[in-house]
Amino acid sequence: TDSSIIRNFCIIAHIDHGKSTLADRMLQMTEVLDARAARAQYLDRMDIERERGITIKSQAVRLPWAVAEGNDEGTEPGTYVLNMIDTPGHVDFTYEVSRSLEACEAAILLVDAAQGIEAQTLANLYLAMGADLHIIPVLNKIDLPSANPEKYAAELAGLVGCDPSEVLQVSAKTGFGVEALLNEIVKQTPPPVGAKDKPARALIFDSVYDTYRGVVTYVRVVDGKLNHRDRIKMMSTGATHEMLEVGVISPEQTKAGELGVGEVGYLITGVKDVRQSRVGDTVTTQHHGATDMLGGYKHPNPMVYAGLYPIDGDQFNDLREALEKLQLNDAALTFEPETSGALGFGFRCGFLGLLHMEITRDRLEREFNLDLISTAPNVVYEVTMEDGTEHEVTNPSEFPEGKLAEVREPVVKATILSPSDYIGTIMELCQTKRGTLGGMDYLSEDRVEMRYTLPMGEIVFDFFDQLKSRTKGYASLDYERAGDQAAELVKVDILLQGEPVDAFSAIVHKDAAYGYGVMMAGKLKELIPRQQFEVPIQAAIGARVIARENIRAIRKDVLAKCYGGDISRKRKLLEKQKEGKKRMKMVGRVEVPQEAFVAALSTG
Ligand code: GDP
Ligand code: MG
Repeated sequence: TDSSIIRNFCIIAHIDHGKSTLADRMLQMTEVLDARAARAQYLDRMDIERERGITIKSQAVRLPWAVAEGNDEGTEPGTYVLNMIDTPGHVDFTYEVSRSLEACEAAILLVDAAQGIEAQTLANLYLAMGADLHIIPVLNKIDLPSANPEKYAAELAGLVGCDPSEVLQVSAKTGFGVEALLNEIVKQTPPPVGAKDKPARALIFDSVYDTYRGVVTYVRVVDGKLNHRDRIKMMSTGATHEMLEVGVISPEQTKAGELGVGEVGYLITGVKDVRQSRVGDTVTTQHHGATDMLGGYKHPNPMVYAGLYPIDGDQFNDLREALEKLQLNDAALTFEPETSGALGFGFRCGFLGLLHMEITRDRLEREFNLDLISTAPNVVYEVTMEDGTEHEVTNPSEFPEGKLAEVREPVVKATILSPSDYIGTIMELCQTKRGTLGGMDYLSEDRVEMRYTLPMGEIVFDFFDQLKSRTKGYASLDYERAGDQAAELVKVDILLQGEPVDAFSAIVHKDAAYGYGVMMAGKLKELIPRQQFEVPIQAAIGARVIARENIRAIRKDVLAKCYGGDISRKRKLLEKQKEGKKRMKMVGRVEVPQEAFVAALSTG
């Protein structure tokens, strides 16, 4: 395909502003998908994406679009090739978003006409501007009675620096305005530029494992061409692979002989898991290949860790196999076996963020039929000892003992958008989470953007929930990693009869240590049944006890009563006990029902 008729674009939006619905509507209008075959949100292929209404993996689809009339700016009548690249909208997947943006020349900035600009609208816009994309501002959902297109067109125009009349108005639901939008994409999107005679360079913007086909790698060709007879090379590792197939998606995979400058399509190679075909890497040919990679490749590093344990210890191997399978399709997921005194055998898993963690756990339980307990999530801490040795702590129970010189924690730059009524309550929340206000701007009279630096460890627990509940759901949040800071952090251990329960160790700020200790000790007192002896529960920092509770012993006469009486009741009781034993974990001499651990961990 001649690159002058190619238009590569993406749609960026805050969650729920209608990106997937608009993508579906475009598939229909370009007759790539007929209305009968269309099922809601065609591009959100995974069930879990449809259920949660979010887009996790990017997808790309080729849409033919005929323009009947030319225009003054040099658009000729004729059929154009539009490549629409769907991007994940959540902060955990920012890296994937930024790589899919690199594959485009324009971005449709979609804003709900009843909601206005939200935090991820801004975050995505900044990413798109960073990638030098032409921005096409569009208001969606103008069919809603509550839509206020005039107000929000002005807001959006102010943001991108255009006239409010240049903001397109559509309804992805009814189709109103979508045809005009497609024409506008042809007109406004610059055609790709690249050297067709240079060695091939293609950007990997997505990589998906398919049970039947192996890894399907989505690429945008920047220079040269990739032919189905070529042997290819991944430039970050130098690994070479046989090419089995090249093609485009419209809307299913369709073979093509080759992909040229500006084209978007897929490659199928001998690659067995997505870690060999990483998002952001550059593909070239093995013979006469390029020598310079396309810029910006980044290895995805986990930001949040948690222990995952099967409730039934027999499922340990099933869990390992399930994690291995998920990893085929998720280059950012890491896991290593670990043992917990309280929870048995499991894995310490690394995730890009909380949503990534929830999705992974959900999939493990659902698709692989596993029952799991997860420990509270934690971030990665860097510890320097007085003797100069350094430790990276991904599991709180492995926090080093001895003389510490410095503990560093990751921080994030957070952007919060909210109606201005809630400024006070947001400031209060951020203060309790050790945030520092970086700046504040009014987007309009009643909407404000607040910028905070916050420790990531404070964000991973309940920050988002609290923000939502304190602002009646109106505030939105976006954040990005912003280096480390030294902080006065301590490890709090929880001990039963003097034995630390590793699953409950936490790294917290010293001012929050007492509160955490009291809360956990109180909770465990409620949850652990009385034993035949007294069980002290303590919270401690090193050897210093900061909180304690006692579970009193069962009185002798209660036991006597149980074991008297008729024989069938006694047998029933014994059977019940035997069943219960399976799910009992021993901590020292103390028998703790697994449910107690689950309950203590689940309420955070
Ligand atoms: P995404 O998160 O940006 O992909 O948003 P979705 O496409 O999943 O849409 C979120 C919700 O808004 C869904 O319930 C859609 O049916 C609804 N929606 C999307 N576009 C429109 C529209 O133009 N009008 C109305 N009334 N609802 C819409
Ligand atoms: Mg979506």
